[in-house]
Amino acid sequence: MLSLLSSCSQSGWDFPVQLLITGVVCFGVLLLSRWVSQQRYFPGQSNFIWLHLACLWWMLAASVEMAAQGAECKVFWASMAWPGILLTPTFWAVFLWQYIYGKHQRLSSPVLAMLMLAPALCWLLALTNPWHHLMYTEQTAPLSGDYGSPIKYVHGSAYYVATAYGYICMLFCSGIVIRAVLQSSGLYRRHYLVFLLLTLVPWAVNASHVFLGMSLFGFDPTPFSFAFTLMAFAWLIVGVRLFDLLPVARNLLLEALFDPVLVVDSQMRVVEVNPSALKLSGLERGWQGRRLQDWPVLGAKLHELMSQADGCEPNQLLSLPSLDRYFELNIRAVERTTRHEVTLLGQMLYLRDVSQRHISELQLADALAVSEQRLQTILELHEQLREQALCDPLTGLYNRRYLEEFFAREIDRVQREQKPLSLALIDLDHFKLLNDKHGHLEGDDVLKALADKLRRNVRSSDAAFRIGGEEFLLVLPGADLEEASKRLNIICKQLAQQPLETRGGLRQVTLSAGIACWPTQGLNLDELLDVADAALYQAKRAGRNQVVTFG
Ligand code: GH3
Ligand code: MG
Ligand code: MG
Repeated sequence: MLSLLSSCSQSGWDFPVQLLITGVVCFGVLLLSRWVSQQRYFPGQSNFIWLHLACLWWMLAASVEMAAQGAECKVFWASMAWPGILLTPTFWAVFLWQYIYGKHQRLSSPVLAMLMLAPALCWLLALTNPWHHLMYTEQTAPLSGDYGSPIKYVHGSAYYVATAYGYICMLFCSGIVIRAVLQSSGLYRRHYLVFLLLTLVPWAVNASHVFLGMSLFGFDPTPFSFAFTLMAFAWLIVGVRLFDLLPVARNLLLEALFDPVLVVDSQMRVVEVNPSALKLSGLERGWQGRRLQDWPVLGAKLHELMSQADGCEPNQLLSLPSLDRYFELNIRAVERTTRHEVTLLGQMLYLRDVSQRHISELQLADALAVSEQRLQTILELHEQLREQALCDPLTGLYNRRYLEEFFAREIDRVQREQKPLSLALIDLDHFKLLNDKHGHLEGDDVLKALADKLRRNVRSSDAAFRIGGEEFLLVLPGADLEEASKRLNIICKQLAQQPLETRGGLRQVTLSAGIACWPTQGLNLDELLDVADAALYQAKRAGRNQVVTFG
């Protein structure tokens, strides 16, 4: 090793113009790697930088080999290029994988160490080549006898193993890009297609060097092709901006959105929010990773809504009445889909602000409730008015106005049921005398007491009316002459036996009644009233305090 180094110190140096070109390319790659390191949205960023550095190393080693004139020194720098030669395809593969699958995390140290293993081993083999000639055989020698002539490398078995390793990496790269092309569509597919073409460039260049002996300035042109590909890739990523334009645009959209949006992971921890959600909960910092249910203002309710019915119901309402804010909750699953499985990564909670609409709805509901209440009052008043219009104020019995309506209805009914209906016309006996003797007020009390008695003596289907001063009418649906007569006789007898209570004391009164029956004695109200009136007249004439029926 030392002898190799000392061979370089004794070597002469030449700086042809090709070296300047290589230097410019190296500088370009260096600038590119610096620029990449400053980008925010760049999946696989660190590996892209490692890739640049490996390629740079490869080109620098090749440049030094070009500049060195001593054959041993040239071979030494060819050996020094090996870490660059193998790390370039290694990081190329890792970068493409991370870029295409959108992975941002850095590689862990053990993984990094594993990736370095083969290149390091190869480097060691190359440096110790003079002892085993596994990398370059003993036939490796300058092309011509001229001092500074390029070396003709005759490759040993280790060289082919190392080359195979590089090719496997490149095969992997092509595989994942082809897969990306197949799985994507539209703009993305075109983007990946160009990726694929660019990935094939180093392949083609390297294959033409290994198999066709093509060279650049007498060297392997592969690192230059990598440099070209790197620049093209960087242009694609920066120039087309497909992969950072979309996330940035989406981010802007989220930021500008008036509606709150939260993203929770599978353990219900908030990992992303937009400013609107932060404003609503009054948080500024330290929110990332906080459990959803611990979020101020909306967390508890949101968590409760999500746990109800698995949170699957669409458009559940999140109410924050203290703030006068109402939101419609939309939940979207955030999933990673591979060909074999779908993994739930988290959920996006989109809170559509429906405050205006909801407040209007609430106001409308209030107004409706008030209207309904008013309507109810109006209906009740209407009913009262109707009652008042149809009832006699002194006795509370129905008046003549209601008689026709009631009679028509009941006739319909008994007709359907094929039953009879009887009317009983009642008149107090010598009421004028009572009035004259005890006064009108006591007369009124008698009328009221009789009304009570009649009310108590009729069935629920019957009705009692006051149709004149001291004249009453009972309508008895279903009762024939006989039954009506029987019931009226009972009332008549009871009245004659039990004096009525008035403000002036008990007063003995009697009644006379005439009965008429539908349909045998008349088919309408007037006919029946005439018959009943005649019967009543008959009762008066026969001495009062009795019930008369014709037939
Ligand atoms: P009868 O029927 O037995 O032949 O004799 P009557 O005395 O009852 O006869 P009439 O029909 O002539 O008298 C009815 C009386 O009823 C006349 C009137 O003073 C009295 N009257 C009518 N309406 C009322 C009322 O609202 N209150 C009171 N206290 N008396 C009334
Ligand atoms: Mg009378
Ligand atoms: Mg009378």
